[in-house]
Amino acid sequence: APTHHAAAAHYIPENLPTRIQHFIDGEFVDSVSGKTFDVLDPVSNRSYATAAAGQAEDIDLAVAAATRAFTDGPWPRMLPRARAQVLNRIAEAIEAQDARLAELETFDTGLPITQALGQAHRAAENFRFFADLIVAQADDTYSVPGRQINYVNRKPVGVAGLITPWNTPFMLESWKLAPALASGCTVVLKPAEFTPLSASLWAEIFAAAGLPAGVFNLVNGIGEEAGDALVKHPRVPLISFTGETTTGQLIYRNCAANLKGMSMELGGKSPAVVFADADLDAAIDSTLFGVFSLNGERCTAGSRILVERSIYEDFCARFAARAQQIVVGDPHDPKTEVGALVHPEHFAKVMSYVELGKSEGRLLAGGGRPAGLPEGNYVAPTVFADVAPTARIFQEEIFGPVVTITPFDTDAEALELANGVKYGLAAYLWTSDLTRAHTFAHAVEAGMVWLNSHNVRDLRTPFGGVKASGLGHEGGYRSIDFYTDQQAVHISL
Ligand code: NAD
Repeated sequence: APTHHAAAAHYIPENLPTRIQHFIDGEFVDSVSGKTFDVLDPVSNRSYATAAAGQAEDIDLAVAAATRAFTDGPWPRMLPRARAQVLNRIAEAIEAQDARLAELETFDTGLPITQALGQAHRAAENFRFFADLIVAQADDTYSVPGRQINYVNRKPVGVAGLITPWNTPFMLESWKLAPALASGCTVVLKPAEFTPLSASLWAEIFAAAGLPAGVFNLVNGIGEEAGDALVKHPRVPLISFTGETTTGQLIYRNCAANLKGMSMELGGKSPAVVFADADLDAAIDSTLFGVFSLNGERCTAGSRILVERSIYEDFCARFAARAQQIVVGDPHDPKTEVGALVHPEHFAKVMSYVELGKSEGRLLAGGGRPAGLPEGNYVAPTVFADVAPTARIFQEEIFGPVVTITPFDTDAEALELANGVKYGLAAYLWTSDLTRAHTFAHAVEAGMVWLNSHNVRDLRTPFGGVKASGLGHEGGYRSIDFYTDQQAVHISL
């Protein structure tokens, strides 16, 4: 039976707001219409707050404030060094909130507290990194000897529309806020409706760091209302979106009318390929981490494990035994390794895949709600072996603590299995053969590959997927390119 435990009492952070508001032009405000939506915590599934449900008129106000701050305000005109100083102060202000951020994130998303505790540091690093980058930024100059000098004049694009998902919400917001602000854009952020709690911290953090009013605007609300109005707003020239592939496709269509710039980080079904010559202990540790950390609610989860036939049974037995030891429980308990899934709707979706999996694979661990946790969105870490590539649990993103294992005989077959889904976000390869590692890495259809290693980001590298996993890569100078226009200026000599 899976390890589990119920906490004595569900921890509720102090000073929780009962009303979550927008933040427009330096002020917390309600929706013009007064509309709200309920926000649930994933352990009790009871509503603990209402959040302002932004409509088109709230987006209009936020875009107007961001436009004023862009057109008349100091932010886009500051020297890179001065802007970098504000970004560095933002990083410090984020880290000062580490404990508070972690408890809010854990309460709102169900993420284990030990994993929520690293998020402030990662968010702060995004600001420090882009502060360094803009100070070091060089732009191209070309000379045609005796005739012309031509150079690139880089300009922030304007009001950036940022739309984010509910998994590690604050950290993923920082991935967009840091490069957008560093580039000199002003922003309107629309966070995910399942998890609006931590986004309000940005207002306090930015004010403490001296970001001018109107540069950062936050509108809460559901995707089809607030998100849709932001996507369609004619004065928002670009949208950075992270979320599901189907949502991305709809936003892509809706951006066409205004020919907006778009960056899309979408879903995944990433393979972890384990060859017989791999360091098996390391591969097992890493593949467990890859699919069960962050509750499996992770875009780059290694949710399909492909294992070479000669080590297949051994791998399955050892992996399943470890999965059964994973501690599922109250997200605030430091012993917890897998907490509660974000929302009852998402829980129902994941559970439907667990049930489907019982007819599509051989159940080795988990398989439903852990015993002893009758309430809350808990799913036992679930392992299915012998899963065929035609199975829906092999093809579709589940976004929970559920993994498939499939055997292969040759490198060619492993590659065909790895590439045999519509997604192409990440791939993890385990082998001690250098040639095979690089040959396979270059052939696999994935935006990011980790060889014999965990999913650890280097902020300078491109981040993003291919195929149905995304459009455009951010990361490092690519993000600055996205949030700026590069104008060519030609001078005759
Ligand atoms: P989602 O697509 O349901 O929602 C994402 C955001 O889009 C939310 O803020 C939502 O309100 C908004 N939205 C929904 N409909 C909209 C519309 N019509 N117009 C404008 N905005 C709209 O995704 P989710 O369930 O919040 O997040 C989980 C998904 O995100 C998974 O598929 C996961 O793989 C993906 N994800 C990808 C990455 C990546 O970097 N590739 C990172 C994290 C999550």
